[in-house]
Amino acid sequence: MSKKVLVTGAAGFLGSNLCKRLVADGFDVTGVDNLYTGSLRNLEALQTYPQFNFVQHDIIQPLNFTCDWLFNFACPASPPHYQKDPIFTAKTNFIGTLNMLELAHKNNARIMQASTSEVYGNPLQHPQTESYWGNVHTTGPRACYDEGKRVAESLFFDYKRMHNLDIKVIRIFNTYGPLMDPNDGRVISNFIMQALRGEPITLYGTGEQTRSFCYVDDLINGIMAMMHSDASITGPINLGNPIEFTLKELVETLSTVLGKPLPLITMPLPQDDPTRRQPDITLAKQILHWQPQVDLATGLKHTIAYFRQFVS
Ligand code: UDP
Repeated sequence: MSKKVLVTGAAGFLGSNLCKRLVADGFDVTGVDNLYTGSLRNLEALQTYPQFNFVQHDIIQPLNFTCDWLFNFACPASPPHYQKDPIFTAKTNFIGTLNMLELAHKNNARIMQASTSEVYGNPLQHPQTESYWGNVHTTGPRACYDEGKRVAESLFFDYKRMHNLDIKVIRIFNTYGPLMDPNDGRVISNFIMQALRGEPITLYGTGEQTRSFCYVDDLINGIMAMMHSDASITGPINLGNPIEFTLKELVETLSTVLGKPLPLITMPLPQDDPTRRQPDITLAKQILHWQPQVDLATGLKHTIAYFRQFVS
C-alpha cells in the first residue's frame, strides 16, 4: 500500500511543487492549507488525481488525521506577507508546529520541518554552515518569522529527545520557479513581473546585498532525498544553491535572458534586510549526495515562461 502523506502549506509555492512530486512518485497525498497566502490555482491540476485530496484548515487549530509522513510547510514566507500579521506568523510557527508534532507523535509518523536560512538572521559567518547559531534581531520586524522558525526547530528536537520522534529539519535558502505567486513580493517574482510589464525594476538599497537562488526542482529533489534518508539523519541540513549573486547581478542575468535593458528605480532597503546569504551545502552533498543542477539563467527562463500567463 502506498504511504499516506500529509503536506501543510500545500497551496503555497513549495507545498504545491512538493505535492506534485509526491503524487508523481505514487504517494497518497492530502494537502492542507488555510489559503492565507496559498492559492487553489496551484492545485488545480492535482485535484484531478484520485491520490490527491485537499483540506482547508489552519494548523493553528489541532488536526486529526492518519498518516505515515508529514511535511510541515505552512507559513507565509515573503517578508511583506509574514510581516502583515506578525502575531499570526509567530502562532503558525509555534502553535501550528506544535500541533503537527503532536499529530506525528500520535501516528508515529516521520515529520519534516521546512526551516529556513532566516534562522541565521543577518549572518556574521559566511557562507553559513549548519553549526552556525545565527544573528537574529529578536525584536525586529523579521523576528516573527525568524524566531518562529527557530522555536519550531527547538520543538522538533525536543520531540526527538522526549519521544524519539522521527524528525527531519531542512533549512531552505531562497528558492524560485513555477507556481510562485506573481504578487508574492519577493525579489524574483517582483523583478520578472516588472520586466514583463515593462515597468522599472524596484531595487531595494544599493543592490550589493547578496542572495543564492535555487531552482525549485532542485530543491524538491533535495527534500525527497532528505525524507527518504535513514532515521539517524535528522538535520538540520542546508538546502540551497551555493552560487551567490548580488542583486545587481541578478538584474543583469535577467536582462540577458530577456534580451533587453531593464531600467531600475532605487527604493529604501527594508529594515534588517540580510546583507549576505549563501549556503554551505557540504553536509547535503556528503549525506544526501545532493546538489543543485539548474543554473540561474536556465531557471529564470522556466520561471519567465510560467509568469507570462499573468501579464495581459
Ligand atoms: N528586493 C529588492 N526588490 C524587490 C524585492 C526584494 O531589491 O522588489 C531585495 C530585498 O531587499 C532583499 C532581496 O531582494 O535584499 C531578497 O528579498 P526577498 O524578499 O526575495 O527575500 P529574503 O531573502 O529577504 O527573505
